[in-house]
Amino acid sequence: MNESSNLRGAVRQQLATDRLLGVTFAPMPRRRFRAKPSARCHEADAGLLIGDQTGPRLSVDQKTETLRVLDETRVQSCRACSLHQTRKRTVFGHGNADARLVFVGEAPGEQEDRQGLPFVGRAGELLNRMIVAMGLTREEVYICNVLKCRPPENRDPSADEILACASFLREQLSTIQAEVVVALGAPASKTLLQTADSIGRLRGRFHHYYLSGTIGVGPWVPLMPTYHPAYLLRSPGEKRKTWDDLKLVMQRLNLPVPR
Ligand code: SF4
Repeated sequence: MNESSNLRGAVRQQLATDRLLGVTFAPMPRRRFRAKPSARCHEADAGLLIGDQTGPRLSVDQKTETLRVLDETRVQSCRACSLHQTRKRTVFGHGNADARLVFVGEAPGEQEDRQGLPFVGRAGELLNRMIVAMGLTREEVYICNVLKCRPPENRDPSADEILACASFLREQLSTIQAEVVVALGAPASKTLLQTADSIGRLRGRFHHYYLSGTIGVGPWVPLMPTYHPAYLLRSPGEKRKTWDDLKLVMQRLNLPVPR
């Protein structure tokens, strides 16, 4: 196969991705997803980022084991809020325990509750396409929710349920030590940032997610709020803004960003 046919193939693949995501950008070559120390240097020097205040970085095996123990010994048996009465399965999270990038949604839905996995179904398929558009794979990132059990009929979680479950997410993120968290949707963004601001006001810039649960105290992770894939399925006109948010995340991670 010559160079021009390779290029045509890449363009065809990109156009297919554009149609799926509703955005236009240059072809993204596959590359290794490795940490670049320069991406962390500014805040690391200030001693603020997670991983710089929580002791030495854990190995991949240590992170995997820590997450497994948290899930199997505490989350799966959790009865800290009333959602344990109606769940079929807990949905802890899925992906690379050593991920540089974590996506956090609000709570499991019907399919997730059945399968015990986050972001399956149509919204999950769109999230997969968003990840691929960033030049990544689902296996390279980590995906979870604020709540580990499904609220009946997908109702909004109560403040008590969020409070009861919050420590699990904090422990997940403390273990993974990701460089960026993307909050998917208004409920997850407002919960993690403890604000009533709308997603329209929050998105488009990085915020601090404090692992202590108290704003301004202890290590934090850069957090980018953006629209939830389920919302994008209903409002495809917002895909462009979502892609703009994801490009800021790619910049932060020193990933190649299409012009
Ligand atoms: Fe426990 Fe969280 Fe499930 Fe409530 S939602 S029962 S706090 S795991």
